[in-house]
Amino acid sequence: MTERLYYHDSFLYEFDAHVAEVAAVDARTALILDRTAFYPTSGGQVFDTGWIVSGSEKLRITEVAEKDDGTILHILESAPRIEKGSQIHGQIDVDRRRDHMQQHSGQHVLSAAFVRLFNMPTVSFHMGVESCSIDLDTKNLTTPQVEAAENLANDVVLENRPVGIRFVTQEEAQGLGLRKMPPVERDKLRLIDIHDFDLTACGGTHVTATGQIGSILLRKVEKVRQGWRVEFVCGKRTVDTARRDYSTLTESAALCSSHIWDLPQQIRKFQEEARAWRKSNEQILQELADLYADRILREASAQDGSIVIARVFQDRDLSFIKLLAQRLTRQNPHVIALLASTAGQPTLVFAQSAGQLFDMGALMKEALAKLGGRGGGSKDMAQGGPAQTDGLEEFLKQLAAKLHA
Ligand SMILES: [Zn+2]
Repeated sequence: MTERLYYHDSFLYEFDAHVAEVAAVDARTALILDRTAFYPTSGGQVFDTGWIVSGSEKLRITEVAEKDDGTILHILESAPRIEKGSQIHGQIDVDRRRDHMQQHSGQHVLSAAFVRLFNMPTVSFHMGVESCSIDLDTKNLTTPQVEAAENLANDVVLENRPVGIRFVTQEEAQGLGLRKMPPVERDKLRLIDIHDFDLTACGGTHVTATGQIGSILLRKVEKVRQGWRVEFVCGKRTVDTARRDYSTLTESAALCSSHIWDLPQQIRKFQEEARAWRKSNEQILQELADLYADRILREASAQDGSIVIARVFQDRDLSFIKLLAQRLTRQNPHVIALLASTAGQPTLVFAQSAGQLFDMGALMKEALAKLGGRGGGSKDMAQGGPAQTDGLEEFLKQLAAKLHA
């Protein structure tokens, strides 16, 4: 079992130790030391990284993991020339450790705030690269409750309460009113004591006074299966997050020519305008389709009792040619319309007036067998996307001519 130096001092960033074993972990090499300040992933907190120095060799620790028997594996980036028994000097990545201490200690404060204010216990904790989250055992969580918990948590940060570490037996722990008991039975429990605010059993790395957490910022909340998930960031991450939010808002505000605080109002205005434009555009297109249909039908001549129309539109999209096909086939009971749009993605629309005897779906299949692409439809209406559009107008005219052959 590895002696855990971080149990007693989370600010111990450098230490000396001996190599107890050089082990293989999958395809990687790991060192087992007699003592370590490196934190292995456990209890929701992720591992430390850093370096191991031995003689002239400086090895990068990329992951630290814990085995069931309590030994700690320091997984190396590259194969070492270190042997069992060598003395090494360990160096923790300080920025990463400090960040983890801020997130983890902030979590204790926040979880305690939700219990104190609303009796909502934390059932799990997740520490991510960008943000952290706790899952609260509660049926409901309102915005005022979130804000109240955030407020109390930040008061506790500002009060700079001492955070102590204590070791007690299971028996001693019973009467102390711990917020959370560890799931596994241990002889000795390690308690994290935020003075007069929270007492809980935990094996992680924490600050020594709440002021070092800096600040606690609550973010998204969402309903999950077992309750409510609250996303949050602490310490320097709150500044990084606020900076990112501010940059996003500033860029958005510049696009809208407004102040960042007026963005919701501005976006609502844009949405209303867009809705009105869409409506007016639809109306104009319908009127245009009517006019097109009138003109096409006036110019068309009937052959064997039906009017076959073959047209390619270079500047009208699919929705317009569909509208036009609909108008043509409704305004006259003898129409067969073979229409194409080459504006954007090329499309074909074949339609016939109700009661006509051709099969548009079959005709579309025949056309696409020549042109490539996919599509299909019913007897009266079919749609397709041709793979090639060279000589499309001529092709449609030949197809139209064949209908009377
Ligand atoms: Zn903890």
